[in-house]
Amino acid sequence: MKTTSKYSIADAAETYLVPNWSNGWFRVNDDGQMEVTPSPGLHVVIQDVVESVLERGESLPVIIRFPQVLSGRVKQLNEAFHKAIDEYKYKGAYQGVFPIKVNQRRLVVETIAQAGYSYAHGLEAGSKAELALCLAQKLNPDALLCCNGFKDDGFIKLALWGRTLGKNVVITLEKYSELERILKQARALGVKPAIGVRFKLHARGSGQWEESGGDQAKFGLNAYELLRVVEKLREENMLDSLVMLHTHIGSQITDIRRIKVAVREATQTYAGLIAAGAQLKYLNVGGGLGVDYDGSKTTFYASMNYTLAEYAADIVYTVQEVCKARSVPEPTIVSESGRALTAHHSVLVMPVVDVTGPTRDLQDIPEAGENTHQIVKDMEEVLDNITARNYREMYNDAVGDKQTLHNLFDLGYVTLSDRARGEALFNAILRKISKLIAGEKYVPDELEDLQKVLADKYICNFSLFQSLPDNWAIQALFPIVPLSRLDEKPTRQGTLVDITCDSDGKIEKFIDLRDVKATLPLHEPNGKPYYLGVFLAGAYQDVLGSSHNLFGKVSEAHVTARPGGRYHIDLFVRGQKARRMIESMGYEEGMLRDSIEDQADEAIKEGLLTDEQETELLEDYGEELLGYTYLEYEEA
Ligand SMILES: *Cc1c(COP(=O)(O)O)cnc(C)c1O
Repeated sequence: MKTTSKYSIADAAETYLVPNWSNGWFRVNDDGQMEVTPSPGLHVVIQDVVESVLERGESLPVIIRFPQVLSGRVKQLNEAFHKAIDEYKYKGAYQGVFPIKVNQRRLVVETIAQAGYSYAHGLEAGSKAELALCLAQKLNPDALLCCNGFKDDGFIKLALWGRTLGKNVVITLEKYSELERILKQARALGVKPAIGVRFKLHARGSGQWEESGGDQAKFGLNAYELLRVVEKLREENMLDSLVMLHTHIGSQITDIRRIKVAVREATQTYAGLIAAGAQLKYLNVGGGLGVDYDGSKTTFYASMNYTLAEYAADIVYTVQEVCKARSVPEPTIVSESGRALTAHHSVLVMPVVDVTGPTRDLQDIPEAGENTHQIVKDMEEVLDNITARNYREMYNDAVGDKQTLHNLFDLGYVTLSDRARGEALFNAILRKISKLIAGEKYVPDELEDLQKVLADKYICNFSLFQSLPDNWAIQALFPIVPLSRLDEKPTRQGTLVDITCDSDGKIEKFIDLRDVKATLPLHEPNGKPYYLGVFLAGAYQDVLGSSHNLFGKVSEAHVTARPGGRYHIDLFVRGQKARRMIESMGYEEGMLRDSIEDQADEAIKEGLLTDEQETELLEDYGEELLGYTYLEYEEA
């Protein structure tokens, strides 16, 4: 028996696994709405913010950013290391750096720089442009500004100028040949460089980025090259310029054991360099701190089998253990967490604009004609005979019949009206089966395919390629939850499709505690706006997104929570206008307008258009150029 009334917010939290992945930042409130807790004691109902955005006359989709969440993450990371340092009486310090490639948005970088000031949390740049951006930030004078990535003379010069500005800029060698270049530029500018070396650990990460480490890694020096760097600097009488050993085994490390193994190897290497006469101050263990996207706490690629506290403790413990054994000073530990700092701070809100699907479309079955084909009659029989016992078998029969129907149609043996009736019968069969399995608590795995076939398609006003590129490129999973109606049982199973014309623009994999789910439980449309929130997408997605179909950057609302459930939209940044998107492809706005005007003049001559209509047409055209690239409906 279905008991819709018994569905509670606790059930919703379980359905969408909110407590598992939210890390305390998000929850289902008593009114069945998604709520953010950007800071202890402060709550904001996410749908309220969406409504404020609409009241301002702005359109969706929108990314809501919570700078307080970013600051909170910076704090949690630093405090976790400080706690571990206290606990183990580690003699060195901890200083993080934020690799800005993860999200270079102004709000993100400035908030992290500010929140990190008292912790001397720094930044990491991987290109000249990123360095130019980082140099302009207000950082604690002790905070590191690490320069990674391949470098030309311009990059190196900029980094050296940074030191003259009093910034703790460290240039990391990604390959041996960069050393000569740095020494030459340093001599020319008369600036003493601070140099780091990236070492190719033989240890590897786990999960999607396994290839970032290991002997075949793209970046880094091998052991022989490391020692050559020491020799060369000794010859130049500059050994004190070598300040950091850098390692990075990839992003989203799912297994804590991999981290321990890599940190052990890194610390042994550090000790080896000290033994060779270097005076390193910093040991940089790179990024890789994971985000538990599905909340399963496993080594599954969308998860991680450790907590932030365990991560910090294991690193501090391992470094200390090796340093003690090798009798070398305990260095300042540096980590480069990007994903873990930024993933939680934003929510992508997309409205559902329509729902389609085999159990909704074509509800009525067309009348049978005079000479109905036998295959259609077979399907009628299947429909009449489905029971709770035989639906699996009947489903297989129906799938076969539909295939035969289409084959016969192609050969000219089945008429268009027979085909119409056959397809409608097939959908009726699916509807009947879906009713039968709705009563069953667990649908057997072997019927997942059926569930997928039966699923509704919720059409959402967004572009997967712009807003969740990793879902498309590397099957990344993000928790997706309706922002309201969470006190109501979701009675439908759906997949999501975006509004691009690309058949890849869809989401058909959802988080689950075991593996992934093919469909997401969703609510039956009730005529009121229905918004879905995509959570934990604050890392990498904003900057990897692309303008497929010229859908541009999404509007953003920056929101701070105030006491009493109140909030303030500090800043609203409109999404990219159509004109900008078109211009980015090499067109000029004036040229477009001229072309339309010429065509309109021609149309007037031919009597297809009046003067008044031309004015109106040009107005509408101009308005679209200035408009948002996403669907703009008059929202209720
Ligand atoms: C990308 C990158 C990072 C960030 O890694 P996360 O897993 O996002 O924390 C850190 N260090 C280097 C060298 C990187 O290239």
